[in-house]
Amino acid sequence: MADYGHFIGGRHVAGTSGRFADVFEPMTGEARGRVALASTAEVGTAVADAEQAQVEWAAVNPQRRARVFMKFLDLINRDMDGLADLLAREHGKTVADAKGDIQRGFEVVEFACGVPHLLKGEYTDGAGPGIDAYSMRQPLGVVAGITPFNFPAMIPMWKFAPAIACGNAFILKPSERDPGVPMRLAELMIEAGLPPGVLNVVNGDKEAVDALLDHPAVKAIGFVGSTPIAEYIYTRGAARGKRVHAFGGAKNHMVIMPDADMEKTVDALIGAGYGSAGERCMAISVAVPVGAKTADRLMEMLVPRVEALRIGPSTDASADYGPLVTRAAVDKVRSYVDIGIAEGATLAVDGRGFTLQGYENGFYFGSCLFDNVTRDMRIYREEIFGPVLSVVRAKTYDEALNLCNDHEYGNGTAIFTRDGDAARDFVSKVQVGMVGVNVPIPTPLAYYSFGGWKRSVFGDLNQHGPDSIRFYTKTKTVTARWPSGVKEGADFSMPTM
Ligand code: NAD
Repeated sequence: MADYGHFIGGRHVAGTSGRFADVFEPMTGEARGRVALASTAEVGTAVADAEQAQVEWAAVNPQRRARVFMKFLDLINRDMDGLADLLAREHGKTVADAKGDIQRGFEVVEFACGVPHLLKGEYTDGAGPGIDAYSMRQPLGVVAGITPFNFPAMIPMWKFAPAIACGNAFILKPSERDPGVPMRLAELMIEAGLPPGVLNVVNGDKEAVDALLDHPAVKAIGFVGSTPIAEYIYTRGAARGKRVHAFGGAKNHMVIMPDADMEKTVDALIGAGYGSAGERCMAISVAVPVGAKTADRLMEMLVPRVEALRIGPSTDASADYGPLVTRAAVDKVRSYVDIGIAEGATLAVDGRGFTLQGYENGFYFGSCLFDNVTRDMRIYREEIFGPVLSVVRAKTYDEALNLCNDHEYGNGTAIFTRDGDAARDFVSKVQVGMVGVNVPIPTPLAYYSFGGWKRSVFGDLNQHGPDSIRFYTKTKTVTARWPSGVKEGADFSMPTM
């Protein structure tokens, strides 16, 4: 049985709070072990260690800092199979999908290896008589990341890689549901040569999070999770003067135009809607066919494909998706399907009765597809985070665009069409942060920044890409004059150029 404590000062330490949470293996439904839930005092110890380590780490030149990450990439490649297996066992996603989770984090580490270039400032030679002006980026100090269960490798790496590369020390508070991979990543960073104390993992729940939010030495908080918690983190952290960006939930629409290549669209939709059991913040949860003919054709092709989806244990290479993360998640998704029926939507595919032979206690949920969903329904307005796709029929392109724009979430969206004018108009007018054109999950590449709009985000500056360097540094601007350029005598008026 796994017994996770914390990773502080470069080594594993047992939890002392006396509080623990169970960690499950969703594919069997059995407990795999437990994870310690940190007290405020334990968080304080981690922050104190990080504060000490940060000073020396910031003095290491950026190229040497980058080399630690280059070595870390080698170690991830070496351990890829073991990491993916552990991730799949604690999260529930398939091993192939777990490798994708690790890979998308890996790519942000590759980006962070460019930190010597990314930290370069600006310079103006001869800004005045004998005067040079320049700016530089300096680390914030100790920063923290609070991450969700659904990408236990990718999102921790999105957070700690740019932060540490910039010269900060980092406290990671991963999800208590699947802490195994984040703990392994911290071990690998030490093996790669990171000095102890620069990356610490504190496991825990609200108490640990609140301790990070309230600690005066924690200068910035990067959060990813559900919208109510994101809003809370932003409000409380910002009130204490911290830099905070908090990424929340989503309801991502795919607009399907009458001229779309329907075969390719259905392939894209089914992967984006049901991959990882719908537990992705960039999953498509709403399909919006434009025109009755498009909608009828879509349903005709989609229903048999949804019915044929293969649900299996995470270790089954032929499974399309695996179990949900917890029994509570299964109950929540089921309750939404019941709500959808009560609200009058048409349940075209009903997966509620699904069980997997040999894995009867696993957290599985069969694929569901709703047709005739309307904008007033809760199954449309709220994030379900499961293998449930809603089809909202729009009469016109404008109606489809307005649906996207009126929704409170604005994380991701996609349009499927062969019409360049429609695609261009959509890209320009849609009130959503990440947009795909014939791309169902438009998660930005590592060297662009990732972030939604509206209530999918609180705070400023996105994650990874150039914004992450801005988020984890503060700018200092220097104006320097050397004696040869100094005129004689005091000057009491405001200096101007
Ligand atoms: P969650 O909000 O329950 O938990 C996220 C983190 O917050 C965890 O570390 C958890 O321990 C902590 N937390 C939970 N309740 C808390 C509380 N009351 N006070 C303080 N901290 C608390 O989210 P989750 O279920 O782990 O993840 C799924 C959610 O994350 C979905 O809503 C999904 O859309 C979202 N998500 C968003 C993005 C994005 O970039 N926008 C990416 C991935 C996931």
